[in-house]
Amino acid sequence: MKQPIYVDNNATTKVDDKVLAEMLPYFSDYYGNPSSMHSFGGKIGYKIAEAREKIAALINASPKEILFTSCGTESDNTAIKAVLRSRSGKRHIITTRVEHPAIKNLCEELSGRGHRVTYVPVDSKGILDLDYLYDHITDDTAIVSVMWANNETGVIFPVEEIAGKLSERGITFHTDAVQAAGKIPIDVQKNQVDMLSMSGHKIHAPKGIGALYIKKGTRFSPFLIGGHQENGRRGGTENVGAIIGLGKACELAMEHLEDEAKKVGHLRDILETELLKAIPSSIINGNRENRLPTTTNISFKFVEGEAILLMLNEHGICASSGSACTTGSLEPSHVLRAMGVPYTAAHGSIRFSLSKYNTEEEIRYIIKKLPPIIERLRELSPFWQEQQMPT
Ligand code: PLP
Repeated sequence: MKQPIYVDNNATTKVDDKVLAEMLPYFSDYYGNPSSMHSFGGKIGYKIAEAREKIAALINASPKEILFTSCGTESDNTAIKAVLRSRSGKRHIITTRVEHPAIKNLCEELSGRGHRVTYVPVDSKGILDLDYLYDHITDDTAIVSVMWANNETGVIFPVEEIAGKLSERGITFHTDAVQAAGKIPIDVQKNQVDMLSMSGHKIHAPKGIGALYIKKGTRFSPFLIGGHQENGRRGGTENVGAIIGLGKACELAMEHLEDEAKKVGHLRDILETELLKAIPSSIINGNRENRLPTTTNISFKFVEGEAILLMLNEHGICASSGSACTTGSLEPSHVLRAMGVPYTAAHGSIRFSLSKYNTEEEIRYIIKKLPPIIERLRELSPFWQEQQMPT
């Protein structure tokens, strides 16, 4: 079996060969600065415009509504800070308990600077408490930010419904669609989303490129002040090769979205079904009815996720766990804690995130290798042994 068996695609993805081929000439042959007056640089402006069109097309936006950034994190920071700056009288932010650190840690920092942040809870399936969200809107609310799909569980949030409700009340709505864009259909013409974050390296473009959709008419003030690039909305010479790569990746994602979602979803379902069958005391974290087709988060009770990952790694399998090593202790992720997943299960959670490059052979390999790993680790677990004792 060719290794690695990479099922950590929510962390990052392989750059598509077609994307790489499209980018490479812009590092070697066409290296001019798109802002230059001469044609060698100026010509590159056309390629950037083409990439902007492709990115806009993926979410049915207008190219003018797309701002290039350096990553999903910058898109998220730009959106929230731009709105707060342009609505300086308002200091209240509403977000969820399960956001990526790009929003979560930003909101924590902002709350230390005098902003008030409301965190909307989720239930045990990771479903958002919409009444709580709507009940906490006040005249002071500047922005609501709710991710489109959760990076750890794949759970999809009803952003279109939320956006509609907020638009009626004149509140700016941002969504972190870093895990959703290119994997499920998004049409900004059909909803009232004001701002939407994307990241290249989650959809087979390179790292270091992102985009922010800013709906026409949305109040905005730039995060990076400098040159006149991006119509004065973000200073800094464009990351030309990566922008072209993101454009190509969006074009490919759009072309194959339905087929790939079907294929990957089928593999994910085989993986889940077979693992649950083979391994007792294992549970799926997150709402199975409404998830990204690429993602499953499974808890194997009474074992440590890190130990599972290390043993999977010995077989060339790359996944990730739902706990993070902070100051030497393994803390279950804030997402699983927000869902109230018991510690005994949260500690042993593994996220498998698939892409178009995974094959059924690889999935069957994981299904074969994982059950004996869990069995071996449970033999060493006093908590598991205790569970097995007759009462
Ligand atoms: N938002 C979500 C939901 C993510 O999953 C990630 C990355 O994992 C980010 C934001 C940050 O994106 P980037 O790594 O491009 O900064």
